[in-house]
Amino acid sequence: MKSIRVSEYGGPSVLRIEEVPTPEPGANQVLVRNHAVGVNPVETYLRSNTDNRGPKLPYTPGSDAAGVVEAVGPGVTALKVGDRVYFGGSVSGAYAERSLCDVTQVHPLPKNVSFAQGAAVNAPYATAYHALFNRGHGEAGETVLVHGASGGVGIAAVQLARARGLTVIGTAGTDRGRRLVLEQGAHHVLDHTAPGYLDELLRLTGGRGVDIVLEMLANVNLQKDLGVIAMHGRIVVIGNRGMVEVNARLAMNKEAAILGMALFNVTAAQLVGIHAALVEGLANGTLRPVVGQELPLAQAARSHEAIMEAGHYGKIVLVP
Ligand code: NAP
Repeated sequence: MKSIRVSEYGGPSVLRIEEVPTPEPGANQVLVRNHAVGVNPVETYLRSNTDNRGPKLPYTPGSDAAGVVEAVGPGVTALKVGDRVYFGGSVSGAYAERSLCDVTQVHPLPKNVSFAQGAAVNAPYATAYHALFNRGHGEAGETVLVHGASGGVGIAAVQLARARGLTVIGTAGTDRGRRLVLEQGAHHVLDHTAPGYLDELLRLTGGRGVDIVLEMLANVNLQKDLGVIAMHGRIVVIGNRGMVEVNARLAMNKEAAILGMALFNVTAAQLVGIHAALVEGLANGTLRPVVGQELPLAQAARSHEAIMEAGHYGKIVLVP
């Protein structure tokens, strides 16, 4: 089968398509034939070995895909050959025609959700859910700023927050992105490239600020977030790409919390709850992943360039 392999750390060109043996499922494993593969920013950091967190070489990148179960190993009863599924994490890597998964990594893909949309579920929606509810303790009636709402995690957060009954303010850097954020359920949208755009947020909240910030780019925004957080507010740092200086007095004055989160810290028990909620939200149409760009698997390198460019519009997926 064809698979993207990384044999050295570096720029997008180290993503090369190769022929590899098709893996066989062992006990409690399944083999999924991937119809679409999700591309996430973290895969660019791992590829270039940022913070020395690169996987052992050589490896097949990716954690998210959707497809059909092609084979099941001994002991698998919850899934059968032919089932439509999405997965979050795998044994063999996702950027490939097929992936070997532990059965706990695989979830049913409701029939109203396309494979491309299924590939856009795991990291974006699980991250948004964990940030908004498990870390941010978002409640109906509260107001959330999704700071960077036009990409994978942002769209997921807008849909989840709106469904839960929060007032949602999103941001995006382009007109097209801002239209998408409103279409996906945000009550208001702001331009994070416009000078003084958070003055408008204070006007929208009557000067009170927001209860929760879901922050996609903390190194740029954390100090600004402290200026618009309400009393006892929670800022959840989801994304960060550098250093930032903040005035901690602003956090004192508001008794505000700055909370980190990383999807790889989510417990097995939390993951069960998260995917139960996501599968139900997908089935009833509350959660509708937006796929902005589909590229052939062989163009994985291009997908890594595209995900680091400005002007996001939902997810980028690879099609084997
Ligand atoms: P993505 O699809 O590439 O989207 C990036 C988002 O950041 C877009 O909405 C983009 O908006 C926005 N952005 C750009 N400049 C911004 C600014 N100045 N202020 C606020 N937002 C800005 O990425 P993603 O998958 O949604 O992930 C978002 C971030 O979270 C990434 O840094 C990713 O590594 C991180 N993440 C972390 C976890 C975790 O476990 N902690 C999990 C998943 C993702 P425009 O393009 O419209 O400007």
